[in-house]
Amino acid sequence: MQQNGGFPCPECGEMISVSRELLLGFLSGSQDSIYCSRCGLKLTINPENSQEALEQYRQLDEVIQKSQQNVEQAQKGHF
Ligand SMILES: [Zn+2]
Repeated sequence: MQQNGGFPCPECGEMISVSRELLLGFLSGSQDSIYCSRCGLKLTINPENSQEALEQYRQLDEVIQKSQQNVEQAQKGHF
């Protein structure tokens, strides 16, 4: 079972999977929103907008770090 980064939807609790590309897009500013695949909730990531958004952004940052660790481990495993 593959485990990608992600976080539970605040509306319905569905796990919203977030690809590494998408997360990097958030950090670079080319992406600012994500949709829940179950209920269609739109999450807008705007750190300047509100504390809640900032918290979401911080959680995403943790996911990125975990994803990067997983990639590093996977690369070590291959070689
Ligand atoms: Zn949802």
